[in-house]
Amino acid sequence: MINEQRICNEFARQAAIDSPSYKEADMAAYLTGRFEELGGSVEFDTVGAKIGSNSNNMLVRFAGTKAGEPLLLAVHMDTVGPAENVQPVLKDGIFTSAGDTVLGGDDKAGIAAIIEALEVLKEQNIEHVPLEIVVTICEEKGLLGAKALDCSRFKARHGIALDTTGTDIVINRAPAANHLVIDIFGLEAHAGVCPEQGISAIQIAGRALARMPLGRIDEETTANIGTIHGGNATNIVPNRVSLRGEARSHDPNKLREVTELIVSAVEEGGDKALVVVKGETRRASMALELTEEFPAMCVPEDAPIVQLIREAGEALGRPQEIRAAGGGSDANIFNGNGIAMVIMATGMDRVHTINEQLAVVDLVKTAGLLVETIRRA
Ligand SMILES: [Zn+2]
Repeated sequence: MINEQRICNEFARQAAIDSPSYKEADMAAYLTGRFEELGGSVEFDTVGAKIGSNSNNMLVRFAGTKAGEPLLLAVHMDTVGPAENVQPVLKDGIFTSAGDTVLGGDDKAGIAAIIEALEVLKEQNIEHVPLEIVVTICEEKGLLGAKALDCSRFKARHGIALDTTGTDIVINRAPAANHLVIDIFGLEAHAGVCPEQGISAIQIAGRALARMPLGRIDEETTANIGTIHGGNATNIVPNRVSLRGEARSHDPNKLREVTELIVSAVEEGGDKALVVVKGETRRASMALELTEEFPAMCVPEDAPIVQLIREAGEALGRPQEIRAAGGGSDANIFNGNGIAMVIMATGMDRVHTINEQLAVVDLVKTAGLLVETIRRA
């Protein structure tokens, strides 16, 4: 059913178009041509300038040849670096880069699979529901394209993102994440001459860190302080420390709870830290910058979109493993906007390294599962 030569050519052409985050314009131009050739109507939003990209998010619509719930397919057109002058090499059934860049299978394996699926639908006159395809920019920079996207443009209420490693895996759950920057302000003083006039921000940070819940909190919740910066010299009581960290959980309440515990660990210590200088009481203080990096995704296992892929896999003799992921992706954002979206594995491997690879057999598998899924939608 899948034309192996055609999908290999498609993937190789895409991989050879450099599309690092913020510089996706060449890839967008190429994909516009391909989707239009296949009968799609292509539009772009206008968020690129705001994000700092030379492209915009791409939306493609294919009218249905039968009635039914529209299906949304999501991929991203940017890649991580190094991605200058990518030269895909196909040897013994495996794509790699020439060795000095990523391959870009993340996420071009998914894009190539979609294009091959569209070729097959057309070639074999397979009836299908209306299809919407979104190709985002700057996914690798913190889901910037998806976050800026106006999801009211989609008619589909459910969909599939093609963007995870392995094969025959469906991700239906992923945690929400909070990003934290905590600045602790003490009071500077000479450490040898008048330390009693200073408040050590480093000591407040140390006590707070010892009280914070960090690491694995429970099976669905984690927290981490990843960087700590502060202090100027050994003879100065340090007046400033900056902590950067994150908390993740599949459960929004637990996420809020663990985030609050981290923040209150700093507040409690800071409140007690005071000195009286020349009759004036001086206290430590803190500043908190809390950002929701992405909302959780949780598509129930009995949701129609999960069932659809499961049945397609069974029909092909390839049972699908339904599982949770620990990271965040565009699918979190779509779920946050009320679109039930799961993630399908694309066969991409060792992503985000120059050793990235993609086996042709896995690429063909992804396209085959996608065709079968669309046929049954
Ligand atoms: Zn990706």
